[in-house]
Amino acid sequence: MDCIFCKIIKKELPADIVYEGKDIIGFKDLNPEAPVHLLFVPKKHLEWKDDFSQEDLLLLANLISAAKSVAKEQNISEACKLIFNIGKTGHIPHIHLHLLGGWTKDVPKHNI
Ligand SMILES: [Zn+2]
Ligand SMILES: [Zn+2]
Repeated sequence: MDCIFCKIIKKELPADIVYEGKDIIGFKDLNPEAPVHLLFVPKKHLEWKDDFSQEDLLLLANLISAAKSVAKEQNISEACKLIFNIGKTGHIPHIHLHLLGGWTKDVPKHNI
């Protein structure tokens, strides 16, 4: 499958990895929209669907948990955002969670 995230997971493409667990990998977004902008991705190629298996739901929960712990590690958990892009947002279909933070002044209002 020609999926950029699967290639990063298989280390066929380079990425600045900040987290790696059994099921989840976290790395820096190549086009950051915040001082800290990380992506958390399940190692299994998973896309949005109406009916997730229990196993997939657990994976989604673990994604949030991984992002939260890295946010804490990087001292940005006081003001950070976790964002999923779903559907026709022009996004990579492999489910991933954006973690944005690290603003030194006010949190920008424009990116929800
Ligand atoms: Zn994939
Ligand atoms: Zn995205």
